[in-house]
Amino acid sequence: MALPAIWATPKRVTLSFDRTAVAIIGGGPAGLAPLLAAHRRGRLADLLKEGITVVEQSGAVGEGSIGRWCINSDSTGFTFADCLAGPPESELAALRNHPLTKEFLEAGDGTVPLRSAGELLALIGQAMNGLIAATPNGRVLKRSRAISTRRTATGWLTLIRDVKTGRERTIDSRNVVLATGASQPAERLRGEVVAGVNLAERCGERLLQSGDVLSTSGFAAIAARLAALGRPPRVAIIGGSTSAAAVAHALLHRLPGVTFGPGGVTILHRRELRIFYPSVDAALADGYTEFGPDDICPISGRVYRLGGFRLDSRELIMRARGIGGRSPEPRLQLHRLGLDDAASLTLLDNADLVIAALGYRPRALPVFDEAGRPVPLLAGTSPQARLVDDRCRVLGASGNPLPHLFAIGLAAGFVPHGRLGGEPSFRGQANGLWLWQSDVGGLIVDAILSPSFGKDYSLELSALARVEQINATHELAV
Ligand SMILES: Cc1cc2nc3c(=O)[nH]c(=O)nc-3n(C[C@H](O)[C@H](O)[C@H](O)COP(=O)(O)OP(=O)(O)OC[C@H]3O[C@@H](n4cnc5c(N)ncnc54)[C@H](O)[C@@H]3O)c2cc1C
Repeated sequence: MALPAIWATPKRVTLSFDRTAVAIIGGGPAGLAPLLAAHRRGRLADLLKEGITVVEQSGAVGEGSIGRWCINSDSTGFTFADCLAGPPESELAALRNHPLTKEFLEAGDGTVPLRSAGELLALIGQAMNGLIAATPNGRVLKRSRAISTRRTATGWLTLIRDVKTGRERTIDSRNVVLATGASQPAERLRGEVVAGVNLAERCGERLLQSGDVLSTSGFAAIAARLAALGRPPRVAIIGGSTSAAAVAHALLHRLPGVTFGPGGVTILHRRELRIFYPSVDAALADGYTEFGPDDICPISGRVYRLGGFRLDSRELIMRARGIGGRSPEPRLQLHRLGLDDAASLTLLDNADLVIAALGYRPRALPVFDEAGRPVPLLAGTSPQARLVDDRCRVLGASGNPLPHLFAIGLAAGFVPHGRLGGEPSFRGQANGLWLWQSDVGGLIVDAILSPSFGKDYSLELSALARVEQINATHELAV
């Protein structure tokens, strides 16, 4: 990768901050998360005093892309509102009584539309924007896109470009937090092999990615395409994660103009489809025994806390699998890949649409060393490689953490461990906001401030909710 021209031009404008300043690149839910983690522990003022600059390419911070999905959440209403937890008189305390927050608290253990989650995060983002902008060293640079970041003797120099004017400038900060979200790269899809064949070559125009289907506009296009067939459609979904189940649920429940026949939707999955349970007793009471000691979170006692399906997806998979006395869902069939390739190929060939729900890859940012040479990242070395280590530090290609360069958010690859809990058998990414806004964001704040991170108010009886509600719903989304 060539060095961006600006590094060689003498005319660049440098916004200088002191050596302890933090540049947060991407002002979506993950970009806000370390700030909310600090707020939760009563340390937001300390963090803001360090000097925070948020760089966001859109016109607002907070919402990111979460509100664009046409489905319900797989985390509870309460967990979204819980990001406002903190000391009674904290900076965001007033928002706890906002009508939107109350809606989420009322949803409690239930699911909420992601569109509404986007609205709540936008509201919180607006408030956080005001708080940052009001501090002497704080700035929120909206409609500004980060292009790359380059190591310096004291930290990082990040090149940003005004989205409207194209004007470029650099931010000099000691720490950089990448929160640029994730994508479903087309090149990864082109290389995907299923049942021994190249998926893209086999399916051609019939192949889509889950992100294209679940966006509000994408879903409307799918509705029109399936309705135009004039017969019960057949859809094959490839993947065993929440996204695969979410696509199936949306197809079966959000398309009033389309009628699926028996087995009209098939989920083709490689790994077992696991069910979340709040406790071993609850699982056994349902006759669910597909777990061992490694599948139980040692902190919470929950079964498949990270890897199990939740809420709408859970209900659907339980119905399809006949678990817990649920009524059957004959329109959905489950097909395990790797057992009978011929049968898998028949399902793919007969499908009107094939939807790849294969997860996301982190966007990150091009990184350069002090000499201006590209620094390859571990995440770029294979389709599964993680962007960060267990402390949210961005990893170079050889697995070494890059100093003062952190990342958080969708597909960053953070795996909970130790006091963060989660079942030891979990292999994957924890993509839940609540975790980022508490312990994961806390790791970053810890690294930026001091290791003594202050009191955790999240389990306190706060203005937010009753303690029993908190205990019932402090969960992760995956
Ligand atoms: C279908 C789906 C459903 C989900 N459901 C849930 C759920 O129920 N509960 C839950 O907790 N989580 C859920 N998640 C996971 C996660 O919370 C969301 O994906 C969330 O939007 C991720 O936040 P993010 O900040 O990492 O990325 P994004 O929301 O994409 O935000 C990234 C931000 O960075 C900005 N940006 C990107 N590049 C640049 C750049 N170069 N310069 C400046 N700005 C930049 C973007 O404009 C954007 O504002 C879901 C994810 C998906 C895909």
